Amino acid sequence: MPRPIRASIDLEALRQNYVIARNKAGQAKAYAVVKANAYGHGLANAIQALGPVADGFALLDLAEARALREAGLTQPIVLLEGFFEPADLADIVALGLTPTLHSEAQLTLLERAALAAPIDVMLKINSGMNRLGFAGDALGATLARLRALSWVRSITLMTHFARADDEIGISTQMARFKTFTSGLDLPVSLANSAALLRFPEAAGQVVRPGIMLYGASPMPDLHSAEALGLKPVMTLSSEIIGVQTLSPGERVGYGGTFEAPGPMRIGVVACGYADGYPRHAPTGTPILVGGRRTRTLGRVSMDMLACDLTHLEEAGIGSPVTLWGQGLAADEVATAAGTISYELFCALAARVPVRVMEG
Ligand SMILES: *Cc1c(COP(=O)(O)O)cnc(C)c1O
Repeated sequence: MPRPIRASIDLEALRQNYVIARNKAGQAKAYAVVKANAYGHGLANAIQALGPVADGFALLDLAEARALREAGLTQPIVLLEGFFEPADLADIVALGLTPTLHSEAQLTLLERAALAAPIDVMLKINSGMNRLGFAGDALGATLARLRALSWVRSITLMTHFARADDEIGISTQMARFKTFTSGLDLPVSLANSAALLRFPEAAGQVVRPGIMLYGASPMPDLHSAEALGLKPVMTLSSEIIGVQTLSPGERVGYGGTFEAPGPMRIGVVACGYADGYPRHAPTGTPILVGGRRTRTLGRVSMDMLACDLTHLEEAGIGSPVTLWGQGLAADEVATAAGTISYELFCALAARVPVRVMEG
């Protein structure tokens, strides 16, 4: 028998979350962000759930873009970091991809390319995040050079918000973007999940929801995923494989970081950091045993972690455990561990068997 750990992927939840994003987008197209193996959920699963419904897709790797085309998808596919060397441009043409163009180096490559067929591009502008994108004052010259290329069929202006998910919001970046682009009659793509959910004025012509599709909130401190109507797509579950009875003063796990204040009963779960559970999750991180909430205890090991069964008399070896997902928001676990749901999902290890639920 394999270890009892597994990740269940709920395709219907993924589809429904996309519909929520789509409805929020109004007239704009909603391109599903499926980078990083669909945020750890499996690209093939995202293709199955979203292939028939999504207006388009956004990702980073040519190999992932090729997988979408090989699955027969014909929608636009945006490469969020564009291309890296001249050879990539031949693949972009062959696969009909929409690269982001964010640097002078890329523009020069595109000018020298003389492509065999026209492509659409996303021209990325740095409006204040200071990650990728052309400076606003370079925009006029950049556009003139792009428009001179007969193999550039369409240009969408794009930017990315640094603080759409917090109290600062998008107003400063929006104002800069509008100043840079005033008078240009071109479609725009601005919004990630947080901007789409909080700032409908930023919808533009193409929105780029990612995390919300997977049923987590981009701003769990402000709005829970449940309050946003989002359903968890990934549920990481396992079982209790060991039980220990502790006397007061006994310690749990490597480093003995947790000390029992009184008599306790603890359960050992077949899930550790080699499965993708965060090692830095401290004592007290929420976990479900037999559908009831309890807390983790001590350090997370490579293959196991411990939890408190003192008040769960009926729990024992074989009891089902939920690490996150259905019944326990990944956002809650992430917050307790000082990280974000994105990182939990992306870290799901290859050794964890995945069960796909068609819904
Ligand atoms: C990852 C990414 C997104 C999606 O962000 P979420 O917060 O997951 O919605 C959108 N746009 C760009 C450029 C990205 O890199």
